[in-house]
Amino acid sequence: MEEKLRKNMLDQLVEQRKQSLKAIGGKPCSLFIRHLDCGSCNACEMELNALTNPIYDAAQWGIHFEPSPRHADILALTGIYVRSLDRAARSTLEAMPVPRIVTIGDCAKSEEEFQNSYAIIPYPDEVRKAIIAHVPGCPPSPEKILQALFTMANLISK
Ligand code: SF4
Repeated sequence: MEEKLRKNMLDQLVEQRKQSLKAIGGKPCSLFIRHLDCGSCNACEMELNALTNPIYDAAQWGIHFEPSPRHADILALTGIYVRSLDRAARSTLEAMPVPRIVTIGDCAKSEEEFQNSYAIIPYPDEVRKAIIAHVPGCPPSPEKILQALFTMANLISK
């Protein structure tokens, strides 16, 4: 039953990708993602990693993980925003050709919940301004992440 459900979800993703490519004139488009863990429990990372396995195989749709921010279209940010990662996040953004962030997982949206902690800080302005989308969930499923990335790929290729 679970396998059937997964197959249906994958079929829907394939259909969605075909439709979204049609909407931008069928031209091929790609998306290069730099990922930065800003204080996650690692479950969001596991779901992100699943995009590269043979089931989801994001590369078949032109979605790739990119180690260098200089070649990245978007920065995928996971976890609550911790003080010790602030500099890394800002340096990564500065190195990107166009600063764009997609936050992944509920932690990345829950700044106010941990305001009394020394270790956790609100997003600085340059980071907040660069956020263009959020994928909710704890953690979000690979299907949800892929759907958001398809939308990003289309937006960026227009
Ligand atoms: S949103 Fe959930 S799964 Fe993702 S880092 Fe936070 S606690 Fe972990």
